[in-house]
Amino acid sequence: MEVSRRQFLSIGPVAGGSALGFDLTASIGVKQRLRIEGATLSHSLCPYCAVGCSLVAYTKKAANGKTELLQIEGDPDSPVNEGTLCPKGATALQLAVSRRRVPHPLYRAPGAGEWQRVSWEFALNRLARNIKAARDATFVTQDADGNVVNRCEGIAFAGGAAFSSEEGYLATKLMRGLGLVHLEQQARV
Ligand code: SF4
Repeated sequence: MEVSRRQFLSIGPVAGGSALGFDLTASIGVKQRLRIEGATLSHSLCPYCAVGCSLVAYTKKAANGKTELLQIEGDPDSPVNEGTLCPKGATALQLAVSRRRVPHPLYRAPGAGEWQRVSWEFALNRLARNIKAARDATFVTQDADGNVVNRCEGIAFAGGAAFSSEEGYLATKLMRGLGLVHLEQQARV
């Protein structure tokens, strides 16, 4: 039986291999319940880069009534990625669900060895003060040839690869508005 790579990924472990002419569940003697059994399947796109790989996400209502995101994987029907994902896309689940995610701002004072939890108000005020001080100290109005440039050379900005297009647009507008010339994006590094 001829099975293309795309068909194989579509069949996957769900069929237990029976569609390929053999039954794995019988050979190992164990019938497992899949975590995604009965889950709702939704199609989406990986937010990390412009390759635009397609994803399928599995969600299910938990006992407490909340919708749980169970799994995200490559969409086998996509002509772009044919069910595959690069290591970044393969961790897309962790954008939404990760025990290691830090849900609040942390601050380490100059010279301190420990991080301390701070409020968003403290963190944003601190950021704003530092940006203003660095911009004031490094703003260049003219280059060496006397050309008017009005740019800030003392701050660099790196966008995260999990930015949506809208977040990237907003960040670029804000940074260019401050006069920054050093902008980079993690997906390009
Ligand atoms: S980050 Fe990886 S999985 Fe996501 S779109 Fe780019 S290549 Fe595809």
